[in-house]
Amino acid sequence: MSINHQAWMLRYSVLWFLTVSMPLITHAVQAKGPNLEFAEVAAGVYLHLGKHEEMSVDNLGDIANIGFIIGNDSVAVIDPGGSPQLGAAMRKSIRDVTELPISHLILTHIHPDHIFGGSAFADVENIVAHRNFTRALAQRGNYYREAYSDLFANPNIPTSLQPTLEVKDELRIDLGGRRLIVTAHRTAHTDNDLSIYDHATQTLWASDLIFAQRIPSLDGSLTGWLKVMDELAARPAALVIPGHGQPGDWSTVVQPQLRYLNLLLRETREAIARSIRLSDVVDQVADGESKSWLLFTSHHRGNVTRAYTELEWE
Ligand SMILES: [Zn+2]
Repeated sequence: MSINHQAWMLRYSVLWFLTVSMPLITHAVQAKGPNLEFAEVAAGVYLHLGKHEEMSVDNLGDIANIGFIIGNDSVAVIDPGGSPQLGAAMRKSIRDVTELPISHLILTHIHPDHIFGGSAFADVENIVAHRNFTRALAQRGNYYREAYSDLFANPNIPTSLQPTLEVKDELRIDLGGRRLIVTAHRTAHTDNDLSIYDHATQTLWASDLIFAQRIPSLDGSLTGWLKVMDELAARPAALVIPGHGQPGDWSTVVQPQLRYLNLLLRETREAIARSIRLSDVVDQVADGESKSWLLFTSHHRGNVTRAYTELEWE
């Protein structure tokens, strides 16, 4: 067995087990992927905007912002998208822009809409993720695959990959005349969030540490998330790319999320201080935000529940 083959087997062994143990898929989707459009939002930084929808067979999991950054020598992919078909379409789009090799696949966090296209990049040498990613994948991977099973045309295709480079604090990547800093954050949106900073254009790829237009979803720690937003603010960014929604400058992009998370924090703490039960406040905390966000009803109650559970132990 060659070294490369051994590495390939290692990457797949866990996911192979998980995927073949899935129930048979009855609703197969077309093998032909969509044409994905990428816009060059800063020099050499390409972004595809996801739709403001939930994951479905119709949208092939195309709901998150995904993209790539090109150096003089190689390319870094930032999130392969929400399904194998989407990942394959992304790879084709990259080839339309550059012939340079893809040296890094960065998985910003475990959520399926960001990483389930990973199989299209199985040959990439450096698969970068937070040091908590593998543990989170072991805990959630099977559940996600079952929940979204009809998104996968072939159940034997692994939906995401095992990291080969785990980021503990910070990882510096050189794409040839272009330096990226990948930062592993404390628990915030999830317990395995990465952000990417491109020196050349001062672009901060925040992924789901920042939501725009679509309501943020809390799957980590509310107080941690607000701290991480403070830390991100300290880095000069000419352009911030959120995990969902339009990119922009820091102050414009992050203000709605700051307002929402701070309101969630304050009103949940007040309810706990007054000994009001969660079931009695879940529809009241921060409900003034309902008109400010897309998909508010899909995620807000979950956010209040998560915040309450976290803050009642303070
Ligand atoms: Zn997410």
